[in-house]
Amino acid sequence: MRPGQTLGILGGGQLGRLIAQAAKGLGWRTAALDSDRSCPALQVVDVPIVGAVDDAASAIELARVSDVVTLEWELIPAPVLEEVSKRKPLYPQPVVLAVIQDRLTQKEFLRKNGFPQTEYGAAAGAEDLPCYPVIVKRRRHGYDGKGQARFSSAEDAAKGADIFAAPCVWEKVVPFAKEVSVVLARARDGEIAVYPLAENLHRNGVLHATRAPAQVDAAAARRAEELARGLARTLGHVGVMAVEMFLLADGTLLVNEIAPRVHNSGHYTLGACATSQFEQHARAVGGLPLGRVAQAAPALMVNLLGDLWAGGEPDWTLLRSIPGATLHLYGKASARAGRKMGHYVVVGDAAEAEWDRADERLGALRRL
Ligand code: ATP
Ligand code: MG
Repeated sequence: MRPGQTLGILGGGQLGRLIAQAAKGLGWRTAALDSDRSCPALQVVDVPIVGAVDDAASAIELARVSDVVTLEWELIPAPVLEEVSKRKPLYPQPVVLAVIQDRLTQKEFLRKNGFPQTEYGAAAGAEDLPCYPVIVKRRRHGYDGKGQARFSSAEDAAKGADIFAAPCVWEKVVPFAKEVSVVLARARDGEIAVYPLAENLHRNGVLHATRAPAQVDAAAARRAEELARGLARTLGHVGVMAVEMFLLADGTLLVNEIAPRVHNSGHYTLGACATSQFEQHARAVGGLPLGRVAQAAPALMVNLLGDLWAGGEPDWTLLRSIPGATLHLYGKASARAGRKMGHYVVVGDAAEAEWDRADERLGALRRL
């Protein structure tokens, strides 16, 4: 990609918006496709295309106006991806997405290639569940803990049988000590750059906060990085990807899932690292050399969910009292409960103490 050329993005959420903003910083033009004209990315791109991301004709139109196409959402149907990649370079490539889109094929890929993960299997109904407690996940179209159910017993599973309306996998519940993620970028020529390990706290299946570097021993961090590098290479991925992992008390790492795109746990890199994950993704898919990933100072990211808007626009002035804090809002018009509306990042010495104070801060932001 050269300045003046156009990067096309399939999907118009906050991830697309942040990629587009970074791409503009490189002097590129941007286009994005989403069914909602007022979505986060369509507000900022040069060429907004209104249409469903699973509609081939709309995706073909995106390809037409773009020089390179990428995506911010990995669940775009394979036939649509094929139409795009016939016309313009598309990264990551459809073969990578085919492995990842279906949780069962993703798990089989991990198993065949010797990557560690929790015990799992296919499940069409409660009778396929071999143990309790167990987590059941729809094979396709889950995110932010949606399309998942946790069952503690057979009676419990019988009550929650609606999860099985679509094909599922079961997973043994992992008694993890910590959740961590490796965010890395792989360039078209195979070069890989890895960000410092991120430590993640989830609530109700949704990411709540991330701190980086993770507070884990150096050996575990090194093994996590090696795992993620191996995954990116084996997949032949191009672009940013995140590998979510469970770290057990004995130091064992298990892969939870792979996200073949920029990731919520990498948001801290915008502000804390020499090159943000968003610019890095643009560079990787655009055929540029990767930027430096060096982190200037410890960082914390806290997600702002729609619930925080229950009493009206939160009182952002309170964030000013936190040294090194910056607010990012995604421009979403309506704040539904659970919806990711924005996040704040704290970079510097305050990050560590703010990790423990996140709930207090969210409480203070909320209008009563
Ligand atoms: P997202 O897209 O936000 O990452 P998702 O819907 O793809 O979420 P998962 O990552 O599979 O969902 O699960 C969400 C969270 O639920 C995990 O981060 C973890 O906290 C918990 N979880 C999922 N699977 C397991 C498991 N096998 N054992 C223990 N906890 C789990
Ligand atoms: Mg996840």
